Amino acid sequence: MKIHNFSAGPSILPQEVMQQASQAVKELDESGLSLIEISHRSKAFIEIMEEACERALQLTGLQGKGYKALFLQGGASQQFLMSAYNLLEKKAGFVNTGTWSTKAIKEAKLLGEVSEVASSQDANFNYIPKNYSVPSDLDYLHLTTNNTIFGTQIKSIPDTEVPLVADMSSDIFSRKFDYSKFDLFYAGAQKNMGPAGTTLVIFKEDALGKVSRSIPSMLDYAVQAKAESMFNTPPVFAVYTSLLTLRWIENQGGIEKIGIKNAAKATHLYGEIDRNSKFKGFAAPEDRSHMNATFNLTDPSLSETFDKICQTAGISGLKGHRSVGGYRASIYNALPIDSVEVLVDCMQILEKEY
Ligand SMILES: *Cc1c(COP(=O)(O)O)cnc(C)c1O
Repeated sequence: MKIHNFSAGPSILPQEVMQQASQAVKELDESGLSLIEISHRSKAFIEIMEEACERALQLTGLQGKGYKALFLQGGASQQFLMSAYNLLEKKAGFVNTGTWSTKAIKEAKLLGEVSEVASSQDANFNYIPKNYSVPSDLDYLHLTTNNTIFGTQIKSIPDTEVPLVADMSSDIFSRKFDYSKFDLFYAGAQKNMGPAGTTLVIFKEDALGKVSRSIPSMLDYAVQAKAESMFNTPPVFAVYTSLLTLRWIENQGGIEKIGIKNAAKATHLYGEIDRNSKFKGFAAPEDRSHMNATFNLTDPSLSETFDKICQTAGISGLKGHRSVGGYRASIYNALPIDSVEVLVDCMQILEKEY
């Protein structure tokens, strides 16, 4: 049976990427060797790393604009600490929009003063704060562009002179976006780019060198940049598979085209959430994520019934995070609209028959 994978992360990847990646594990480009047994210093792998970094810059429109792309390890969670290590001299500002922002704040506090510029904690993070003022004395302002757990997404970037840093783990490459507004952004691969194991970090080269502390080598962007993401052995499989996804995005027409498809999927699903009397959306409508749609049953006693209907239809990974409950449909780039249609059918079956 075809499975419709709505998992929040690790999550769905394009079928052709899975096939190419599994082939490369058997044999990379007729080399007689597997991707995962060759030296990361080999010509073949150096080319993979270079192409992956180049494509990441191209897709974000940052090629030739003074930015550098790196593929590191430690997940987005390590970037919470690493970004502060490299950029926080005195004070950083954060917009707290959920679990991931809260974790980023905790790490930054180890290294300097933190100002929570705005928060939506008062409503269990079901909206994106707006119209807050950004103090001018911040080293940077940190945003989480898409809140994977709560299903909210920043639609417009705050207008400020302060450098911007962003966690884009769950919406990178998902929509047209002015990436040049950011000094640094990062994304764990496993939501919208590849398997777990690598994190893409893109930063403006002149954003570095402004802190006085000494930085451990593995946490120093300058060290990692000088070594072209190979200060130590990189996660070769995760980087290669991410590269395959970046090529796939390009073949789809780039992020603008992908963004149009994502908007169509989201509109279809939210339309049903709003229309169907058995469901209600969690996030404030104007802040709804095009990547993770969160919703609940109006009558929670129907949950077993709805779960059965979904299971029969081959739907997987729909359970909401424990801090929101209900359901979360992650509709990342690789999820076809057919899968959204199957989910909408299940919602309609519940409404008609129960
Ligand atoms: C999943 C996620 C993280 C955590 O990523 P790890 O790679 O597991 O550290 C951080 N931020 C956001 C927005 C996420 O969705």
